[in-house]
Amino acid sequence: MPEPIRAVNCRTGEVDFTFPPATSAAVAAEAHRLRAGQAAWAALGLDGRATALLHWADAITAARLEIISALAADTGRWYLSEREVDGAANNLRRWAKLAPEVLTPEMTTESRQSALIGTVSYQNQYVPFALAGFISPWNFPVTLSLIDAAPALAAGCAVLIKPSEVTSRFVAPFLKTLDAVPALKAVVGLVTGGGQTGQAVVDQVDLICFTGSVSTGRGVAEAAARKFIPAFLELGGKDPLIVLEGADLEQATDAALRGSVLNTGQVCLSIERIYVHRSLYPAFVERLVEKAKNVSLNHPDIHAGHIGPLIFHKQAETIEAHLKDAIAKGATIACGGEVQTHGGGRWCPATVVIDVTHDMALMTDETFGPIMPVMAFDTVDEAVALANDTTFGLSAAVIGPSADAAKVVAMRINAGGLSINDCGLTYMTYEPEKTSFGYSGLGGSRMGPASIQRFLRKKALIVQNGAPQSINSFGEHAATTPAAA
Ligand code: NAD
Repeated sequence: MPEPIRAVNCRTGEVDFTFPPATSAAVAAEAHRLRAGQAAWAALGLDGRATALLHWADAITAARLEIISALAADTGRWYLSEREVDGAANNLRRWAKLAPEVLTPEMTTESRQSALIGTVSYQNQYVPFALAGFISPWNFPVTLSLIDAAPALAAGCAVLIKPSEVTSRFVAPFLKTLDAVPALKAVVGLVTGGGQTGQAVVDQVDLICFTGSVSTGRGVAEAAARKFIPAFLELGGKDPLIVLEGADLEQATDAALRGSVLNTGQVCLSIERIYVHRSLYPAFVERLVEKAKNVSLNHPDIHAGHIGPLIFHKQAETIEAHLKDAIAKGATIACGGEVQTHGGGRWCPATVVIDVTHDMALMTDETFGPIMPVMAFDTVDEAVALANDTTFGLSAAVIGPSADAAKVVAMRINAGGLSINDCGLTYMTYEPEKTSFGYSGLGGSRMGPASIQRFLRKKALIVQNGAPQSINSFGEHAATTPAAA
C-alpha cells in the first residue's frame, strides 16, 4: 500500500486529514467502470443528459453547506468556497442549457456532383471521447475540477477527475451528491492522490484536461503525446497590468488591488506586475499602499476580513524567496512584505513593492501571492515591451483614460484574455473565448460555447450515390496540361 497523504490544515498548520492515494490499479478499475457506463450516458442524448446535469446541480445545491465546509477547511476562506460550490452547480446548469443549443444535431446532408467524384452526399456526426480525464490544482479545487468536466459530460463523455492532493476534503461530500442521479453516478469518477495518481489518470483516459503548473503540465503533455491523446493545458501566468496616462486613479488602484490580492493572490489570472505611466506613478503608489493597508486577514475569524491564509505551505516559501531576491537586488517594500504565522497558518498581507526591475524573480516568475510590484514607464512602447517580456501569456489588463485608448494597447499584448479598464474579467465571465500564449497553456479555449467541441470528434459519413469512378478516370490519358518541354 502506498503511504497515506497527510493534508495540512492551512489555518492551523496541522495535519488533520489523511487519505490513501488511489493506486494505478484502483484508477484502472475506476476507468473501467466509467467506460462501461459511457455508452448508455451518450445514448441519453443531449436533452436526457441536460436533465441529469440539472438534477446533479440541484443535489449539489442541497448539499452546499457540507461541501463548502469541507472546502473551507482546505482553503481557509469561506466566501470564495461558497462562490466555488454555487458556481459549480451553476456551471452544470449553464451547460445543460447551452449544449443542446450549440450541438443540435449537425447532421447536414449535401449533394456534391463533379466529374471526378460522382454524386456524393455526406453527413457529419459528433462522437464524444469515451473517457475524459481532468487534473486540477489546489487554488480553486471545486471550480477547476468541474469547469471542463461539465461540458465533457454534456458532450457525452464519461469523466475521471483527480483534484489536488492538497485540497481533497470536498471529494467525499461531492461524491455523495451523485447518489441522487444514478445516470451520472455511472459516468463520474473522482480519485484522490498526488502525482502518481495523476499519471495513472493520464494512462487511462482518451483525452486529458490539465490545470496546474508549467512543469507538471509539460510532463502531462509528454505523456499524452506518447499516447496520441489530446491534451488541453491551462498553466501558470505572470499577468501584467498597464495603467496609461490619464487613467482614473481611484478606479485603477481599486482594480489593481482586487486583481492582485483576491484569493490571497492564489489565482492563475492574478495581476503579478503593474506598470504605471510616470505622470501617475507617485500618486498611484501612494493610493495603492493606502488601500493595501486596509486589506485584512480573515484571522482569527474566517467570517471576517478580506483574504485567507496561503493554502499550500510551500507557496509561502516561493513568496518569501521572491521578496528576498527582490530586496537583495534593490527593491523597496512599500507595505506588507512578510509572510506571517498566525495560529499555525501562514498568511501574507497585501504587499506593494517598488524599485523593481526585470532582473528580479518577482517580475519574471509566478509568485502566486498578494504581491504588487509597481514599475513606472515613460512611453506606451516601453510598457508593451515590459508586459511582453515574459515566458507566460495567460491574460493581462490595461486601464486607460477611455476603453478605446486601453484597447489599442491591449491588442499589442501577447496574452489570451485582456481586461479593459478593470482586472481579472477573464475569470468573472465564462463567455469570451481565449487561448493562452507562451508557456501558459495549450489547446482550445475552455471558455465560450465552442469549448464543448474539445470533447467531440467529428465523424464524416460520405455516401456515393452513383457508380464509383474507375481507375480509368485517373489515368495519364486524362491529363490536360501539356508535358513540360
Ligand atoms: P501542480 O502542477 O503542482 O499540480 C496540479 C495537479 O497535477 C495536482 O492535482 C497534482 O497532484 C497533479 N500532478 C502532479 N504531478 C503529476 C504528474 N506527474 N502527472 C499528472 N498529474 C500530476 O500545480 P498546483 O501547485 O496544484 O497549482 C498551482 C498552479 O496551477 C499555478 O501555476 C497556477 O497558475 C496554475 N493554475 C492555472 C490555471 C489556469 O486556468 N491556467 C488555473 C489555476 C491554477
